[in-house]
Amino acid sequence: MEAFEKNIRKVEPYVPGEQPRQRVVKLNTNENPYPPAPGVERALRELDTADFRLYPDPACSVLVDAIADHYKVGRDQVFVGVGSDDVLSLCFLTFFNSDKPILFPDITYSFYKVWARLYRIPYECKKVDEDFRIVREDYYGENGGVIFPNPNAPTALYESLELVEDILRHNRDVIVIVDEAYIDYAGPSAIELIDRYDNLVVTQTFSKSRSMAGMRIGYAIASPKLIRYLNDVKYSFNSYTLNRASLVCGAEAVKDRAYFEETVEKIKATRERAGERLARLGFSFPESSANFLFATHPDYDAREIFEALKEKGIYVRWWDSARIRQYVRITVGTDEEMEKLFAALEAFMAGRKAV
Ligand SMILES: *Cc1c(COP(=O)(O)O)cnc(C)c1O
Repeated sequence: MEAFEKNIRKVEPYVPGEQPRQRVVKLNTNENPYPPAPGVERALRELDTADFRLYPDPACSVLVDAIADHYKVGRDQVFVGVGSDDVLSLCFLTFFNSDKPILFPDITYSFYKVWARLYRIPYECKKVDEDFRIVREDYYGENGGVIFPNPNAPTALYESLELVEDILRHNRDVIVIVDEAYIDYAGPSAIELIDRYDNLVVTQTFSKSRSMAGMRIGYAIASPKLIRYLNDVKYSFNSYTLNRASLVCGAEAVKDRAYFEETVEKIKATRERAGERLARLGFSFPESSANFLFATHPDYDAREIFEALKEKGIYVRWWDSARIRQYVRITVGTDEEMEKLFAALEAFMAGRKAV
C-alpha cells in the first residue's frame, strides 16, 4: 500500500444488476417493460437544445410542483434528486448523525449498508422472521434512525400501514425513512402519515412504476422542516442535480395518471399469472406486492437456475448471500417475456435431474 493510501476513503461499493449491451430478456433490475407516458416523448421533442448551455433550475420547480399536485402535499414537502438512490444517500447524510446505530432489516436493499459505511454511520441489521416479515419489536429500542423499504426488496413483501405507524410511534425522537420504490404495486403509501409524523420521510422513484429508470428521478416527501434540512445538504453538495430533460419529462410522466394506472394494472395482472405458473412448477415465493417475484424451488439449486437462464439470454437476479442463496428474483416483464422465461425454466427442469 502506498503511504498516501492511508488517507483515502475505502468502501465496498454497491453492486448493481447487470446492464448487458446485447438484447436480452431483462428481468434482473426491476425496470418497467412498458415505455413511459406518451407526454414524455412530446416534452423531449419540444426541448430547445440551445437552452442546454444554461444551468437547469436548481429548485427543480416544474417537477416538484407536479409531484406536489399529484400527491396533494405542499411544494415545501417535496424534495427531488437523481434517482431515489441520490435522495436516499442525501437522507443518510442529513438525518443519520447519531452515535447510536441506525436500524434496518438483514434482508433488504443492499445499498443501505454501503451508505452507512461510506458515511461512517453505525448500523445494526434486524433479522426478518422465517417468512421474511419485519419484526416490529426489533425497532422499539434506542437507535440513531430507522430505514426499511415497503414493499421490502428483494422479498416483495408489503407491511401494513399499521406496522409502519407502530414503528413510527416507537421512534418519535429519530428519523424514520420508508423507501417506497415499489409502493405503486402494493397497498396504501405512508405519505398519508406525513402530516401526523414530522419524523417520517417517504422516498419514491420514477425508475419502476413510471418507466423512467434511464432518466434518474427520485423524490422524498416529508414535513417542510425535514425538506429544508435536506435542501441545505443538497445545496452544500451539488446545487444542479436534475438536468433540463429529466425535469420536463418527469413532470409530464406524473401528469398522466391514466397511463400510469393502466401500466401498473398490466404488470399486476402479469404478476398474478406468472405466480400461478411458478407455483405449478413447484416454486414457492412470498406473496408479491412489487413488480418482481422472489422464488425458490425445493429441488433445484437457485444459482444453477440463474446461470441456466442467463445462458439462454434471460437475466434474473441471484445473490450469494446468507438466507437467500436459494432464491432468484425475477422482474415481472411483459406476458411475452414471461413466456420466454417459462419455456427456458421448463427446459432447464426437464434436462436437469432434481438435486
Ligand atoms: C430501485 C430501488 C431504489 C432506487 O431506485 P432509483 O433508480 O435510484 O430511483 C431504491 N430502493 C429500492 C428498494 C429499490 O429497489
